[in-house]
Amino acid sequence: MRLLVLGGTSEARALAGVLVDEPGIECVSSLAGRVREPRLPAGEVRVGGFGGVDGLATWLRDNGVDAVVDATHPFAARITANAAAATARVGTPLLVLRRPAWVPVAGDRWHPVPDLATAARTVPTLGERILLTIGRQGVDAFADAPGRYLIRAIDPPEGALPAETELLLDRGPFTVESEIALLRDHRIEVVVTKNSGGPLTEAKLVAARESGIPVVVVERPALPAGVPVVGAVTEASAWVHRVGAAQQ
Ligand code: NAP
Repeated sequence: MRLLVLGGTSEARALAGVLVDEPGIECVSSLAGRVREPRLPAGEVRVGGFGGVDGLATWLRDNGVDAVVDATHPFAARITANAAAATARVGTPLLVLRRPAWVPVAGDRWHPVPDLATAARTVPTLGERILLTIGRQGVDAFADAPGRYLIRAIDPPEGALPAETELLLDRGPFTVESEIALLRDHRIEVVVTKNSGGPLTEAKLVAARESGIPVVVVERPALPAGVPVVGAVTEASAWVHRVGAAQQ
């Protein structure tokens, strides 16, 4: 069985790590190629876009792919839509592996917003010193927003930045203690995050809760209709085995 894992997340790496030594499964992981020094999954890896739905459908056919697991980031909406369209066209089974979203708990001061533009309008109503931790993409939504921004990302952000910006290039994972110290040292009044979910970047939410700081939380884009979704690597691995057995 030849499996394509659309990756760029810790879950995608974990799935490839589980499947790489499985007899009868050839697992190819795909990365977009955006991060300069990506953490590579085990096994075969290809890098770069496919060229839209047409390109992905052609790639699936040309490479004899039997199943696809879309384990991309919850905010990578375009590749997820492309995967749904291309697999439907070619008739290849598709599973979406998405880590569960974060949910607020007692003490959180969350301000959920549907998108980054709304986040940029909400931030000035909450404070002047902002920690922006939304990754490299979409920072330009804040270019004209008032306030003093500490922007933390793995690689430098794309596009225009707010006038008053300090850049912090760091990959994490971060501890609650270090996040509390960061909020304190920079006198942060508002945190902005995507609802990425997962344990690796959750410490900032705990730190904001313990520091009494509001968090603007950008909600996830909707998933394509009709595609099965699981939240755990073990469930995705079980799906791969089921599909493989059914195809024999
Ligand atoms: P996106 O907007 O959904 O996709 C844009 C284009 O990038 C796609 O149309 C596709 O190009 C290419 N692409 C995306 N993921 C790919 C993959 N795994 N393999 C091959 N091509 C891929 O994606 P994005 O938000 O730019 O994210 C890019 C990658 O970074 C994803 O793999 C994602 O898992 C990872 N990531 C994203 C975020 C985030 O906040 N968005 C955070 C952490 C990691 P073609 O149309 O040419 O095929």
